[in-house]
Amino acid sequence: MAETAAPPQPEPEPIPESPPEPPVVHHAPRPSLFIVQITPEMAPIAKIGGLADVVFGLSRELAIRGNHVEIILPKYDNLRYDQIFDLQPVYNDLWVPWYDGAIHCTVYFGFVHDRKCFFIEPHSHDNFFNRGSIYGFPDDVFRYAFFSRAAIEFLWQSGKHPDIIHCHDWQTALVPVFLYEFYQALGMTHPRVCMTIHNFKHQGVTGAELLRATGLHQPERFFDWVRMGDNHHKNAINLLKGGIVYSNFVTTVSPRYAFETKDQGQGFGLESTLHTHHMKYGGVVNGIDYDVWNPEVDRYIPVNYGLGNLDDKYENKRALRQRLMLADNDKPIVAFIGRLDPQKGLDLVRHAIFATLERGAQFVLLGSSPDQGINNDFWGLKHMLNDSPDCHLEIGFDEDLSHLIYAGADIMLVPSQFEPCGLTQLIALRYGTVPVVRTVGGLADTVFDKDHSDRPLHQRNGYRFDNYDVPGLESALIRAIDCYYQYPDHFRELMKNAMNADYSWNHPGQDYLNIYDFIRDR
Ligand code: ADP
Repeated sequence: MAETAAPPQPEPEPIPESPPEPPVVHHAPRPSLFIVQITPEMAPIAKIGGLADVVFGLSRELAIRGNHVEIILPKYDNLRYDQIFDLQPVYNDLWVPWYDGAIHCTVYFGFVHDRKCFFIEPHSHDNFFNRGSIYGFPDDVFRYAFFSRAAIEFLWQSGKHPDIIHCHDWQTALVPVFLYEFYQALGMTHPRVCMTIHNFKHQGVTGAELLRATGLHQPERFFDWVRMGDNHHKNAINLLKGGIVYSNFVTTVSPRYAFETKDQGQGFGLESTLHTHHMKYGGVVNGIDYDVWNPEVDRYIPVNYGLGNLDDKYENKRALRQRLMLADNDKPIVAFIGRLDPQKGLDLVRHAIFATLERGAQFVLLGSSPDQGINNDFWGLKHMLNDSPDCHLEIGFDEDLSHLIYAGADIMLVPSQFEPCGLTQLIALRYGTVPVVRTVGGLADTVFDKDHSDRPLHQRNGYRFDNYDVPGLESALIRAIDCYYQYPDHFRELMKNAMNADYSWNHPGQDYLNIYDFIRDR
């Protein structure tokens, strides 16, 4: 079924799924933009997933390029306050409309590694952000609807008129809705909104109560299919859909995932909405922060290394083996680091452990899950393999250890069912750890198969497989292990190609600026 009525804003010019090409170099300096990021997460103070890293890395890249960047977050009780410098209240009198009244909020300001951050603290019995963790509550949709309203109310009351508001995921998808439904009429006509969707699985689907809470008082208008009516549940509204409809531009975190979500049934029900709005939809591969993820300066690994002293990587391999009590032999180490979520291909990970050992290599896993059942499965596996000198499963979250694994392993396995962007393979590439990945999402945009690729040889940096099954996995994993043993020179070339590629924020930073310019010019 096709949507019929026009979206609330004029349609932009058609553009392909990739973002606009970098512009021809201009001689006049480009004007600096005032950009506000409205986000539920930011590394390292409030991090659950990749979204947190994106806000942290992108904000700095935009600032380095001469733009003024501010970030608005909820003031959670479990923020890493030790990482916030000079936190103080700066706005004591923010009243945010909610149901028939308003909730009083205080806004704090502080620096997080030089980023300028505002934190919104509501004073209400709802206790929205003092719950010891970020997500996982029955009223999450209301908590973030309130945050979105508070963030834009703060912009308006404090007289800020950013050029760009950049919001993230369903949690802040109501920001453009509020902007166009309420605040434009109050004179806030300047900002344009870019929304980035980091994962289509979570959309914020809820009922009419939310409209009463947020003052979006015309149910027939907002339940309408062209606006926020969920595509599959007749009596539900879908916040992420609202964000897509009302934003000036929508990005996701890789061009391939943009294609998969719109055209390959991976949009969790939003495919038709993406089709309707395809002219303002594109993918930008995330960057990684090369100050943190860089073997040349990494403080968490015993020996720093780069292309000039690649053999020093093997000192880290020895250290990793010592730390995990693995045998020191001539075998390659295959690693998996990630959330133990079905999305990450857990049945293939399980199979890969045994296939790796059988093929004469070692396996290291670092992962954890909020699901106790999944954790127990992996604990069972760990006990089963306890006596193996070639295998270690570490069940838990350990950022320090992850650095040592990236540096010490030879091969990084990412066999995801779907993967919007994936940071694991990007970090692995930087550390010369050859990725073996499934050809989906951002993995397909960043890893190019040694043997089967239309890329020139110097761009091939790993191994890929298409089918989500055991033969698929083995077709790539075994080639990687065999190459390590039989063609060490080829394997070393792959490592160098991986380390040579630039997956910093440099390119994505420019891509986002192009998008901002594109929507500002309209
Ligand atoms: P997602 O956002 O879906 O979790 P990404 O690949 O985009 O997956 O990002 C995962 C990030 O989290 C990577 O930086 C990875 O190193 C890190 N990570 C995942 N699990 C763990 C863990 N158990 N311990 C330490 N770091 C982890």
